[in-house]
Amino acid sequence: MGEFGLISRLAEVLGPPASDDAIVGIGDDAAVLRFGREHVLVTTDTMVQAVHFLPGSPWEDIGWKALASNVSDIAAMGGEPRFALVTLALPAEQPAADSESVYAGLRACAERYGVSVVGGDVVRAQQVAITIALLGVARSGGGEPLLLRRAAARPGDAIALTGTVGDAVGGLLRMKDGTPPDDALVRAHLHPEAQLAAGAAAVTAGIRCAIDVSDGLLQDVGHICEMSGVGAVVQAGAIPVSEALRKAFGKDSLRLACTGGEDYQLVVVGQAALMEGLIRSAGVPVTVIGEIIDSADPRVRLLDDAGREITFPSRGWDAFRS
Ligand SMILES: [Mg+2]
Repeated sequence: MGEFGLISRLAEVLGPPASDDAIVGIGDDAAVLRFGREHVLVTTDTMVQAVHFLPGSPWEDIGWKALASNVSDIAAMGGEPRFALVTLALPAEQPAADSESVYAGLRACAERYGVSVVGGDVVRAQQVAITIALLGVARSGGGEPLLLRRAAARPGDAIALTGTVGDAVGGLLRMKDGTPPDDALVRAHLHPEAQLAAGAAAVTAGIRCAIDVSDGLLQDVGHICEMSGVGAVVQAGAIPVSEALRKAFGKDSLRLACTGGEDYQLVVVGQAALMEGLIRSAGVPVTVIGEIIDSADPRVRLLDDAGREITFPSRGWDAFRS
């Protein structure tokens, strides 16, 4: 069973939320909880040594990335991050200076995105792991929360992407080959930026559907299709790939861009006219890469310039298959 099959079985064990104030529960980038007039967003993520980061990764970057990946989930809901709880697990023999470096990276990321760390836990474990729970608030209009939902894609909507994809996995591969951490692709792997301003611009532009690219572009567009009950067509030639990735990986850069994951860019889905507004206001490059189609099969078809379908052995990251 893969990660997503496991999640749906565990969700069945829990049953539906007991409270009507859980507006959005399991299955989106963050949960949405109503507290009086406010709508609180909450998300959590764990990074484990040797699973999510290579031994030898700078400790400061591990702290940065652990928080940035959570901020990205708030960005993918169109919200504003506020407060974090941090749990650090580490072996007894780990030097205290390493933990301090993790927290220095955390602090830098918290300052960058306006987050306050308000508590957490430190526990002993066999290997280093860091878990962050992040709370944020939804923007609102006319008393209603303005949200970017995975379930809000409609046939005919444009699919757009911020920035470039594939750089993070390119950096991971280069790091495995011994490339030092100051390489541009390795930086993209170790020190990602969350697209907070673009998420805010999308929700303000009237767009209601997005996801962040954490598992891999095709897989993450697939999550939108499953939740929305639609299909998608993505034009391979439109996918933005950085010069650095192209230079380092040549023809393989398309596969890395489509399946790599951990880029923390946003996939934004909405009517073409709204997308034009976003392209003008996002403050970062936003590229239309495809279209949502009416389909009972929640499949993402990747097409080349001649309209032929391109397939890859894997569509992205799965914690229990890789
Ligand atoms: Mg996400």
